[in-house]
Amino acid sequence: SEYTEPQGERRADVTYDDIGGLGNTIDQIREMVELPLRYPQLFERLGVDPPKGVLLHGPPGTGKTRLAKAVANESHASFFHIAGPEIMGSAYGESEKHLREVFEEATKSAPSIVFIDEIDSIAPKRGQVTGEAEKRLVAQLLTLMDGLESRANLVVIAATNRPEAIDEALRRPGRFDREIVIGVPDERGRREILGIHTRGMPLGDRVDLDELARQTYGFVGADMAALTREAAIEAVRRIMPKLDLTSTTIPPEVLDTLSVTREDFQEAIKRVQPSAMREVMVQK
Ligand code: ATP
Repeated sequence: SEYTEPQGERRADVTYDDIGGLGNTIDQIREMVELPLRYPQLFERLGVDPPKGVLLHGPPGTGKTRLAKAVANESHASFFHIAGPEIMGSAYGESEKHLREVFEEATKSAPSIVFIDEIDSIAPKRGQVTGEAEKRLVAQLLTLMDGLESRANLVVIAATNRPEAIDEALRRPGRFDREIVIGVPDERGRREILGIHTRGMPLGDRVDLDELARQTYGFVGADMAALTREAAIEAVRRIMPKLDLTSTTIPPEVLDTLSVTREDFQEAIKRVQPSAMREVMVQK
């Protein structure tokens, strides 16, 4: 067919089990978003309006996108992803049109979640170096949100690292009036995230995930994912000399005994810089 989706992935494939270190946060978002989407009749019965907009704020790489996808998936809702900076780049009038189309499509396929990543880039405080394009886009977003029925089965989740930089008009009742803070994971959180990212990974006997969680102070989820990827690459480097590069097959005795070892992780740890620490250093 000629039809192309306004935004890719209709159905997210991530679940709550794929998110580490955000226990309380998951409870919060389930209450705010999943329950109203799944059981609108509960809220109707009680006469309260479920939120139309939820703002997630926290440093980059802490799992905001993943959380939005998971809640969409677990609520059996369609998922629409709008990348703030990307939508800004379009020609005159195109960004607003695109936004309207996503909302239209999301309304048609409700229950839906529209996720707007880096919303600060499209809705910075007015008065601050704001161009015409941004003003129009914010106005369009506000119009679209105000136009949503409170029981429209559509929730807009927006993410930002800089909540203070967002146009206040967005935070008014009926818009993004709920907020969820996503923090940098502590040791227990890091351990959980490591467990998730090593789930499908054969690990050497001496790999100690608890120890790795202790060694990774300041790492966010994205850093932990990078660490496990880097460790796997180390393992590949180690077996390279055993490969016959003229052939595409790998002998089972090489492949089946391959695992990621403690040394691979220690090597990887030297290479991956925690992004939270980088941010802290940049800021002050
Ligand atoms: P950004 O603000 O930079 O878009 P984000 O907070 O939306 O970041 P995600 O895009 O969700 O972060 O995370 C990037 C990747 O990091 C994920 O695909 C996942 O591999 C890993 N990750 C981040 N946080 C977590 C977490 N809490 N649990 C498991 N994996 C995580």
